[in-house]
Formats: sequence, C-alpha cells, structure tokens
Amino acid sequence: MEIQNLMHEIREDTIGKMEKKSPYDLAASWSGEDLLYSGVGNAIFIVLPTSGCAWALSGSGGCTMCSYVADSPLVDVDASTLVDIFKKCLAKHDIAEKTAVKIFVSGSFLNEDEVPKAARDEILRILKDEENVKEVVVESRPEYVTEDVMKECSQALGNKLFEVGMGLETSNDYTRKYKINKGFTREDFERAVSTINEMRPDYNVHGKAYLFVKPILLSEKDAIEEAVESARYAEGVGASRISFCPATIHKGTLMELLWKQGSYQPPWIWSVIEIIKRVRSSVKIPVIMDTSAFGTRRGPYNCKKCNSKLKSMIIRSNLEQSIPKEFEEFECDCKAKWIADVKFSDLTRSTTNLNRRK
Ligand code: SF4
Ligand SMILES: [Zn+2]
Repeated sequence: MEIQNLMHEIREDTIGKMEKKSPYDLAASWSGEDLLYSGVGNAIFIVLPTSGCAWALSGSGGCTMCSYVADSPLVDVDASTLVDIFKKCLAKHDIAEKTAVKIFVSGSFLNEDEVPKAARDEILRILKDEENVKEVVVESRPEYVTEDVMKECSQALGNKLFEVGMGLETSNDYTRKYKINKGFTREDFERAVSTINEMRPDYNVHGKAYLFVKPILLSEKDAIEEAVESARYAEGVGASRISFCPATIHKGTLMELLWKQGSYQPPWIWSVIEIIKRVRSSVKIPVIMDTSAFGTRRGPYNCKKCNSKLKSMIIRSNLEQSIPKEFEEFECDCKAKWIADVKFSDLTRSTTNLNRRK
C-alpha cells in the first residue's frame, strides 16, 4: 500500500535522526482548569515515555500527522521506571479537590507491550488512593480495548471514573485509511465503544472519541463538514465525550512535508469556531476543542489581531459547553479571507489554501 510505504520511509528517516534520550528527560506534566464529567475542576496532565506507539513502529509507519514516536526513548522502559517517573510527575502538583488525571503515553496505555501490566496496575492503584482524584483518562487504539483489560483497570482504580480516549479522527473510513493511515475502521471503534458501554453501570467506564480537524488532502470546507459529521457519528455510536484536535504541523510527518511544499495549511480558527457552533447545536454529549498551538506558525491560525482573543473564547466555551454570543458578534478583517478560502476550496476541491499568511 503506497501511503504505508511512504509513511514507513518518513518514520525510518525520523527515527534515524533521533538522539537517544533518557526516559526521565522525556516525561512532562502540567495542570490547569478543565471540564470533568462532574463539572469544572482541575486536571493534571502527565506524559509518560514508553517504548513508542506500536502502530507507528510497525511496517505501517503510523499516522500522517503524528510525530509522537519522536517523543519516545525507543527503548523498553521497564515497569518500575515508568511507575517511578509517574510518581515524580504527580508529586509536582497539588491535587485539588476535584481532579482528573490524564495520562498520555504517545501511543496506547492499554497495550501491554507499550505500558507493562505491572506499571499500569500500580499507576492506577496510586490514583485509587488519592482521594481528590475523581477521574482518570488514558488513550488507546480500539484494538486494545477488551472487557478483561477494562475490568482490570477499573478494579485497580477502585471503580473510579475511567475514560479511554480513542483516536477515531473522522467518521469517514476513506479519509481515515488513505489520508491519515490510521489502520482501523469505524467497525473497530464501534466494537470498542460497545464493549465499554456494555460494562456500565457495573463499571464506571467511558469511551471518548478524538476527532482530528483537517487531515491532509482535505479542503477547508470538507474539513469543516467532516468534523461536524464525525461528531454526530461519534455521539450516535455511544461515545461519552468528544475531543477535537485541530491540526498542528508535527516535525517529521507527511503533513509537514506537504506544508513545506505549500500543499497544506492547518485550519483557520474561523473554521474551528464554525465547527463548535454547529456541533454544540446538534450534539448533546460534552465536546472539547483543543486549542494547543493556536496562533502559532504551525497551528490553527487567523491573524495576529484576533488569534488570542478567539482562543480565549474557545477555552471558555469548552468549560461552559456554550456557544458564546461573541462568536457571532466578533469581527476581524481576516474573516473575509476565510470566507473566500472556504468558497474557493468548495469550488475547486483544492487541497491548498489561499496565501493567507503572506
Ligand atoms: S496518532 Fe496515535 S495511533 Fe497514530 S501514530 Fe500517533 S500515537 Fe500512534
Ligand atoms: Zn483576524
């Protein structure tokens, strides 16, 4: 399959240039206000260095927009090291009264080849004993979501709320296969969500869909339409929450190659707002729009005058699950360019944008 060969080549090249780093140097953590299932609270985010995403390291080369494998030490990190890193990260933060702990492993937390079972159990057991931790959120590809694994996690966690986020990215199987190279289908996602939902209410488990805004080779207009459609689909098949990730150009990806050639731009922030408005008025489950890298050269962008104002409005809209009326009232000169871009991409089905950042 052509895209897999290309991705494999890009990945080999990236890995070849990577310097080996200690797992301790690759760990990261931060905290902030966040929307929990029980309302606004605190979240602690912890990035754990593991051996790397099995999908990215396989012959497939991984997903076209993802460079997480570059954040991995590329060596097996044993269970006790992983637990030690986790404890050190957690100890850096005050655990406020209503806290969610979100663990990112740049791959699948539920894959025992990436996170050894002993480490997984011990990390969840530590969180079980932290009274203020009310929710634990991890990420995994759907193939690792089984009833047995979910039960083990839930039991280790003392049946605290346990959410698994899965990178569905889009409801469109063609886009997911040929433009993202994700390597799983809607059916796989639906099976994982059903497994989780059938376990409730005995187990306090939930499935979340990560949706990607504007994969490569998709026009601005189609990216908006697909994002809205994907949210409706994810709710329809039983996801408990949705988290949108608007594209950011990661180093060493096919997305970066196309961007450098002028064949790809991350979405406009106006497009992101359009998605929020349409999704919030038609989808009932909580929907979060990630705003990382907004207003940067490699992230979603409008213009210097309005990037940060709109970013703040989106963050508020996440916490309140509202459509702020400023979304309608806010005006900026760049909006006309966005409208032209969406119309242009509709007319030509072009994969490029007008030269909006020049
Ligand atoms: S997006 Fe997820 S599945 Fe795809 S390569 Fe990155 S970590 Fe692996
Ligand atoms: Zn502007």
